[in-house]
Amino acid sequence: AIVWMDDMLRSIGKSKLVTEEASVEKLSKDYFWYSPVLDRQLKEKKADAVIVPETEADVAEALALAYRLRIPVTARGAGTGNYGQAVPLEGGIVLDLSGLDRIVEIGDGYARVQCGVKLAVLDKTARDNGQELRIYPSTYVKATVGGFVSGGSGGIGSVTWGNLWDGNVLEAVVYTLEETPRRLAVKGDELFDYIHNYGTTGIMTEVTVPLAPRTEWAQAVFQFDDFAASLQFGEALANEASIPKRLVSPMEWPLPSYFKPLAKFLASGQAAALTEIAESSLSAAAELAERFGGRLGHVIEASMYRRTIGVSDFTWNHTTLWAMKSDPAYTYLQAQFSCDTYLEQLGDIKSKYGDEVLMHFEWMRSGGVLVPAALPIVRFGTEERLYEIIGYFESIGVQIFDPHTWVLADGGRSGGNRMLTRKKANDPLGLLNPGKI
Ligand code: FAD
Repeated sequence: AIVWMDDMLRSIGKSKLVTEEASVEKLSKDYFWYSPVLDRQLKEKKADAVIVPETEADVAEALALAYRLRIPVTARGAGTGNYGQAVPLEGGIVLDLSGLDRIVEIGDGYARVQCGVKLAVLDKTARDNGQELRIYPSTYVKATVGGFVSGGSGGIGSVTWGNLWDGNVLEAVVYTLEETPRRLAVKGDELFDYIHNYGTTGIMTEVTVPLAPRTEWAQAVFQFDDFAASLQFGEALANEASIPKRLVSPMEWPLPSYFKPLAKFLASGQAAALTEIAESSLSAAAELAERFGGRLGHVIEASMYRRTIGVSDFTWNHTTLWAMKSDPAYTYLQAQFSCDTYLEQLGDIKSKYGDEVLMHFEWMRSGGVLVPAALPIVRFGTEERLYEIIGYFESIGVQIFDPHTWVLADGGRSGGNRMLTRKKANDPLGLLNPGKI
């Protein structure tokens, strides 16, 4: 029996405390099983109970109680993270924040929302208002704003607007885990300590994100005989300031064949660049593709935006999802190729590993610079082999952000010392998502 459970029940009340075994287990998991390494290590981990706050005051109360009873607290949005970020390593409480789902304000150029608002709901509301999100992950239908800011990095829109660190979070309300939790209004440089923190330095209850003016997006697939040409087209398209774009994702064949609902519209045996571009720029983009030996293929018109499965449902880490559906032996890496030599690096990798590694790139901006990011699909054999492949990538100058670890620094999160200082101030007992920082 858990000694603190009665205390907890008395303070939190039955309606906001989940103790039923199957629900607790479900709410203790995220999508860590995309990694066979994490799957082996995390599948048995679970919380002792889940608290489901309805208000900010409930969050503060739960954190004060956790401090008093010395119980670990792991925040959860929708649980779509891939690194076991939302998995409690030391039991305790999962704080399910999905109930804090109020859009507080849509202003001119920004939205202020509670952390549990789903990104798709926010984007729709903003678009109805003549605006739209700048960036969001391919899991936007389920994922929450707070979970994206605390556990994600970038996605659709990043080709234009960069990642979460590039001014795409304006302000946050954060609670500390102390005897009396403090409510912090965080902005500017201080946000660095909370973006992609896995909820280790505080619990975010409210977030303000910038909005862009609404664009009418066509979803267009450009096809190429040659994968390298599709990458060069992607680079040129990403750099072409006169063509507004939200997504530029070149895919090596046979990846497109795994996209079951889309595959029938695609040319067999060819590379495919999946894009979202302003509908008014479609012909300009088609001309650009021709310059690289490509042609415009399947198009979903702007009037059908979000009414059918979209091309972004096959990009970013959704590519891994479709590959795993086709063959559960696939897993993935997160890579950043070199801007100047990405084609040589690609050539080296393909000649060494062939179809053991399948490539798709996600052109994106980082710190204002266009970079060839990629989420290579890897056929998993053993952990040794996986880390040998990672070692080879790194040996030829391809940077790897290891997705097979739950430790922030090992996954490439920079600024560890800064964050540790922040953590000591905000979470003196080290109860916020222990084991992740
Ligand atoms: P969760 O998984 O619930 O939480 C993420 C982390 O944040 C956890 O550590 C959790 O403890 C913490 N947390 C959650 N809410 C709060 C809060 N309010 N305060 C403090 N800490 C909190 N990610 C990308 O960045 N880009 C992508 O394109 C992308 N594509 C994906 C595709 C697939 C198929 C899958 C499975 C995942 C993908 N992801 C991607 C990862 C993930 O879906 C996103 O990062 C998503 O935004 C996470 O949101 P969530 O609400 O599910 O967060």
